[in-house]
Amino acid sequence: MSDISTFKFTCSCCDEIHRGVPNLGSNAPNYYFSIPDEEIKKRTFLTSDTCVIDDVHFFVRGCLEIPLIGHEEVFSFGAWVSLSKENFEKFESLYDVKERRDNEPMFGWFSSWVWPFYTDTENIKSIIHLRNDGIRPYIELEPTEHPLALLQSEGISSEQVIKMYEYYVHGKK
Ligand SMILES: [Zn+2]
Repeated sequence: MSDISTFKFTCSCCDEIHRGVPNLGSNAPNYYFSIPDEEIKKRTFLTSDTCVIDDVHFFVRGCLEIPLIGHEEVFSFGAWVSLSKENFEKFESLYDVKERRDNEPMFGWFSSWVWPFYTDTENIKSIIHLRNDGIRPYIELEPTEHPLALLQSEGISSEQVIKMYEYYVHGKK
């Protein structure tokens, strides 16, 4: 492998050298985090890939993939999108299906915050593409002028990825 494709950095928080593009993400959709602790059990159902709130809000986890400038790898952020009930049921019925890529893409509203650069990331229109072999779906943001959408089309810098890593792993702002 050439140098340009090997992403590594020294973390400023723990001084460790991290190799490979870090996988970051959120364990639940935004809405989940706004629910008071004492109501969580009653109102929500959460797995590593799906979330239902109050039996009317349906979310799935996908990969917001962003080209990494100067590298062959992509940066992938685990994010959530809301689906219609109908599409959510379809998603669930295809969950264990190995070959599912050819299913029609689904419309979803982006439902995650992405620290730190991008305000108002909730409710960006997105398209969810199912992938084979249990790989989480690909999230395609509507190509607008929104900073996050621009990032997906133009790429993210290594410096930004490292900053995000230090925030999501060590809480450094
Ligand atoms: Zn570290």
